Amino acid sequence: MILIECPFCGVRDHAEFRYGGDGSIHYPALDADLEHWHDALYLRENIDGMQLETWHHVFGCRQWLLVERDTVSHEISSVKPANNDIGVILDSALTDAGGGTFSSSVGSSPVGSGDASGSSHVPDNKKE
Ligand SMILES: [Zn+2]
Repeated sequence: MILIECPFCGVRDHAEFRYGGDGSIHYPALDADLEHWHDALYLRENIDGMQLETWHHVFGCRQWLLVERDTVSHEISSVKPANNDIGVILDSALTDAGGGTFSSSVGSSPVGSGDASGSSHVPDNKKE
């Protein structure tokens, strides 16, 4: 059994998730030649160790996550939203609804880790 700590829902059994594949793949532009698309779609490394993967929390928050998982021991070293901006989006939605902020509700979760400022994401035009 693999336990995945969803940044939105907490620790959950992997049965709630659907494996989405290699999270390190960078897909080519839509008009790229077939060779680039072939390589992106069909060539995969069979990693013996830590791998970046995508997982979809199908029976939870339905968010896509980036999970760093050891393919041998199944140890998970990090979990974060696949969409870097989801923390900003959720903060804005919660503020509009009169609630708190997503960032403060999950403490030191990796959400928004791309923004090291730790500042509020509430736009100035939302203040009354
Ligand atoms: Zn979730």
